[in-house]
Amino acid sequence: MEVTNKFRTLPAIDKLLSIVAADPEIRHYPHELLTVCLRQAVADARTRIKHGDGNAGSTDSIIRAAKILLREQAGSSLRRVINATGVVLHTNLGRAPLSKRAQECVTGIMEGYSTLEYAVESGQRGSRYAHVVEPICHLTGAEDALVVNNNAAAVLLVLSALARGREVIVSRGELVEIGGSFRVPDVLRQSGATLVEVGTTNKTHLADYEQAIGPNTAAILKVHTSNYCIIGFTSQPEGTELAALAHKHNLPVIEDLGSGTLLPLTAGGQTEPAVKERLQLGFDVLTFSGDKLLGAGQAGIIAGKRPYIELMKKQPLLRAVRIDKLSLAALEGTFKDYIIGSPGQDVPVLAMLNADKPVLEQRADRLKELIVNLNAGFATEVVQLNSPAGGGALPAAVLNGYGVTVTHKNLRTEELESRLRQRTIPIVTRIREDKVIFDVRCLLERDLPDIANALGAL
Ligand SMILES: *Cc1c(COP(=O)(O)O)cnc(C)c1O
Repeated sequence: MEVTNKFRTLPAIDKLLSIVAADPEIRHYPHELLTVCLRQAVADARTRIKHGDGNAGSTDSIIRAAKILLREQAGSSLRRVINATGVVLHTNLGRAPLSKRAQECVTGIMEGYSTLEYAVESGQRGSRYAHVVEPICHLTGAEDALVVNNNAAAVLLVLSALARGREVIVSRGELVEIGGSFRVPDVLRQSGATLVEVGTTNKTHLADYEQAIGPNTAAILKVHTSNYCIIGFTSQPEGTELAALAHKHNLPVIEDLGSGTLLPLTAGGQTEPAVKERLQLGFDVLTFSGDKLLGAGQAGIIAGKRPYIELMKKQPLLRAVRIDKLSLAALEGTFKDYIIGSPGQDVPVLAMLNADKPVLEQRADRLKELIVNLNAGFATEVVQLNSPAGGGALPAAVLNGYGVTVTHKNLRTEELESRLRQRTIPIVTRIREDKVIFDVRCLLERDLPDIANALGAL
């Protein structure tokens, strides 16, 4: 009876609408959206009353709730997060953060028109690829290059152009699954090529490749095992031998490098070969991602010998997987970091992977101090941490770094983690031994006070 009475006193939508029509904070929202949010707020109040919350039905509290719903509508679902996981190439968190130069290139063209496919000298139609082919060739030593939407598309395009309706030889040790349903055998099938598996999981010999070559062979495909390692009793032919074998039979060697670093890179005890070195072995076509170790935005780069790249340019598929202008701008800006800048410092991914331990320790000390100064019931400690590189790169690397553990005297650790995650700017952390861990490797300078403020506001 009591509850039914409370339902009756819930304000009518028309009355609520007339009240908010005078509220400068929200009156500018479209009438329809206001109505939807007020209805939702009233429905939520009903539920709360049913569960015994006697104060849920007041006009004030309903309008407050509607304002929160409106703000959620106005805010973005895709938004910045603070990455306190220590995983540099976190695919779920958008992989590589962009460098300053890359950001400038993106903001420089996003507002207006651009030279995307316009040649200024002639006033004629130009090529969107022209903006990056020269830097790619300069940085990799390739004769020619092409860029597409991502590396998965690059592999698909290369195989479609060079092997449709024919056979491609792949070692059994390299039949990679990347995640998100990219599996080498499936991509091969999609391209119209037929997979010919050779060797075993741990050992593949040159003779295995040689015996598999027949009249219908189109190419040898190598796939960089970018997210796993096979160690122990293993062998693969040397790159130069494989290239020589392929060329003896007039076949190309294609390599999907995945992570594709432009500079030789050693991090966390693992070395990743540079694209240039792979081409020097005699490989004909390489593909790699723009947003892994290279450190730009999403893109797939194809670098190699001109006649093969020419074949790819003629594929109708190229139009379907073409790169967007914003990604292209990020890529061009990042190449500038490599050509005229100091990539180790300017490209965030490289700076984070190579961050010196003392720098990380100082950062952790500063974060701890900010949290201690809150005087808000948090227990905190600076600890040494190991983290992976992430994102299908350097699978065996163990990056030694520092972090800060946090617990609160009145808050369960899961609750703490979940509240940090559900902020407008989410803070993504890990839990270990019942403590929330902030790994400082991927934190920017401005993130430290943000984290302290977020903890203070809990
Ligand atoms: C990551 C990866 C891909 C997919 O690259 P995307 O740019 O994410 O499409 C393909 N092959 C290998 C070996 C990879 O590591």
